Amino acid sequence: MYYVEESHPAIIDKEMHTAVQLEMERRRAFAEKYNISKLDYATVDNPFAGRVICGHCGSPFGRKVWNSTDERLRRVVWRCNKKYEVKGKKSCENKHINDKVLYQAFVNTFNAMVENKEYFIEKWKKELKSENVLVRYKAKQFMV
Ligand SMILES: [Zn+2]
Repeated sequence: MYYVEESHPAIIDKEMHTAVQLEMERRRAFAEKYNISKLDYATVDNPFAGRVICGHCGSPFGRKVWNSTDERLRRVVWRCNKKYEVKGKKSCENKHINDKVLYQAFVNTFNAMVENKEYFIEKWKKELKSENVLVRYKAKQFMV
């Protein structure tokens, strides 16, 4: 993507363009750091795709369905993608997370932010003055 100054009316402003460039770079660096070849994007059905990273080995967690002939035993879990990288051999010892536990942890964190919103509003106000365009842009989004 290129930014040509004043060639025609801008569709997005220069600050947003710079923020997009920085966000694309942040995501590329994140994918490289955690060895994610294809950065999954959150969907309504799978909002944590590519967002849960193993604390043991640094690989992303994947969403797996444990099927059972008994519907009551069917479970959705998140498991380190390296756990069974080599078939039949455990490559990572980290435990799985139940999908419901992960959702609850997110809700708890979100609620804690709402309960402490004065703290976060002060934090974002400071970030609105940041030298970093992406930090400023994200703070502005949180403030809305
Ligand atoms: Zn792992």
